[in-house]
Order: sequence, then structure tokens, then C-alpha cells
Amino acid sequence: MNHDSAPSETSTSSAPGATDSATSLRSSTLTNHVGRLPTHDRESESVGKAKRVRSEISHPVVSSFRQRFPHGVNWYNVGWMVLMNVGAVAAFWHLSWVGLAILVVMHFVTACLGVTLGYHRLLTHGSMIVPTPLKYFFSLCGMIAAEGSPLYWVATHRKHHVLSDLEGDPHSPNDGFWWSHMLWFKPKEGPGELEALLKRWAPDMYKDPVQRFFHNFFPVFPILFGAALYFGGEYFFGLGWSCLLMGLCLRMVLGYHSTWFVNSATHIWGYRNYETTDRSRNLWWVALISYGEGWHNNHHAHQRLARHGHKPWEIDITYMVIRLLKTLGLAKQVQDCLPQAEKAA
Ligand SMILES: [Zn+2]
Ligand SMILES: [Zn+2]
Repeated sequence: MNHDSAPSETSTSSAPGATDSATSLRSSTLTNHVGRLPTHDRESESVGKAKRVRSEISHPVVSSFRQRFPHGVNWYNVGWMVLMNVGAVAAFWHLSWVGLAILVVMHFVTACLGVTLGYHRLLTHGSMIVPTPLKYFFSLCGMIAAEGSPLYWVATHRKHHVLSDLEGDPHSPNDGFWWSHMLWFKPKEGPGELEALLKRWAPDMYKDPVQRFFHNFFPVFPILFGAALYFGGEYFFGLGWSCLLMGLCLRMVLGYHSTWFVNSATHIWGYRNYETTDRSRNLWWVALISYGEGWHNNHHAHQRLARHGHKPWEIDITYMVIRLLKTLGLAKQVQDCLPQAEKAA
């Protein structure tokens, strides 16, 4: 699990002239993420500042193992990933229709409702407002995807937006494809690093005792869900192993890669609708497997927007769900208007 894998906070500002500029950029962009419905003008202002900052900082080169893992390897994360991958392979010896149905439904519930809608568009970017119980329900769905607690995921992702493809970006392909895809959360953090990451990048969520509770007990949720799958599957269908291996391990591995490809592939391949100051791209096949998150260049250009697909053919399933919530009166103040002057070219 990604729970304890914050990259080093102390390694983010060694480039000459980076600290002051990055700090002012960080504070304005962070306000943009968590403030009350910022306007697109403020968004543009942040992009403008990013251009100035980026002109002062050269891209980092790939670091050595010692630089990337200054405190060693996070064996909890590595162990969890090995376990899930072994389980995913074993699932092919326990295939069943019941297991497949659970896999498909729970993939949507955890990866779409939990991660892309809940963690990303709602909690990280405030693209809409939903009733508090629904916010916590989406947080719970996200935790069963086991990509870290909501607090950790949001802090890491906000940091990615502010420092995209610069030194300090938690997962830029500038540091190599595999680093950006699945190695970036493997280093063990130093003392106090995780706490510093959360307080610095997600102070709004850190104040919420429920989110802190979720963070502190995060690993319990996917484990309990796995136990429920096994015992429920055994009791109702006599298919405990199939439900566990397909509904937890295989589903989770598929979900991991769909998220990870957003970090890696959509900063390398694809087309750009907007001239952003990072390497973000729109990549159709990532959008397809990640419920619309693959329209990543659109998202980097307009981070607060609930809709990531800006062209008619850019299908965005998460936004369809948000529109449904809006129709049902469950999502309000949905940020879904493209600025006229900046429509995708
Ligand atoms: Zn990105
Ligand atoms: Zn984002």
C-alpha cells in the first residue's frame, strides 16, 4: 500500500532560485485547490507564475539509487504489491462469473467513485460540493482501492500539480518511466516527512478529524474488505477464494496500473490541447482505463474543472457520473464551464 511513502520534502528546493518562486507559486496554487470556487483568472495566474518559475529551473537528471532511496526501501509497500500481484496471478486458477461481477462492480466503485471522483476531483481540486456523508462515502470507496489514505493521496497529488515535471514532483517521468509509474512510492520516508507532507499540502483535510482517522487506520479498510469478500463469497456461493482473488487482488492490480499510467504515460505520450508548462498529454487509452483521467493535458490546464474531456470525442466517464449526481441534486457548484477564450484549440 502507498500509505507511508511520501517522497523527501527536503529534496524539493535545491535548484538555485527555486525556493522563493516555488513557495509563492505553491501558496497561490494551494489556495486555488482548496479555496472557495476560484475563478479561471486565478488559475491562469498560477500558470503564469509556473512559467516564470520553470524558466528559472532546469530539469533534474535521473538520480542515483542512494538519492532516490535516502532512507532505504519501504518494505511494507513492496510486500503489499508483491502479495497483490501474486494474488492477481492466482486469480486465473479461480475464475468464476461471480468473481468477475464483483471485480467489475468494485473496480468502478473504488477506481471511479473512490479515486477519480472522490480523491481527485472532489477532495484534491474541489471541483464540486457534495453532502458530507457522501464525501466520506467516496473516501471509503477510495481506501478500498488501497492507493493510500485520502489525506496522503490529496497531498501528493497537489504537490504534483505545483511542481509538475520539476524537481520535487513526486512522480515525473523526467526521473525515468518506471520511477513515475510504480517506483516513486517505494522509498521509505525519513522521520516526520509524512506528517510534513500532509500538513503542507493538505492543511484543509488535515484539520478534519474523520480524515485523520481514515489516514491513521487506512490499511485496515482494504484488509477488512478482503476478509468480507472471502467469507461472504464462501458463505453465499462457495467461492471464497475466487471472490477474494478476483474482487480484491486482480481488481486492485488493474486499478493500480490505470492510476499509475496517468502519472507515467500521460506525461510522455499523446497530444496536447493546451500549451501548459509541464509535459502533460491527452492519451485516449489511458482515458479509457481510468474513467477519463487520461485527458491529462486538459486537466493540467484547468485543474479545477470537473470535466476532463474538453473535445466531443474525449469521453470522460467520471464526469458523466458527476453530471448524474448534479441532476439528482447531490453535487452542487460543479465546475464545468470551459473558459470561452481558452477553449481547447
Ligand atoms: Zn500530471
Ligand atoms: Zn489533478
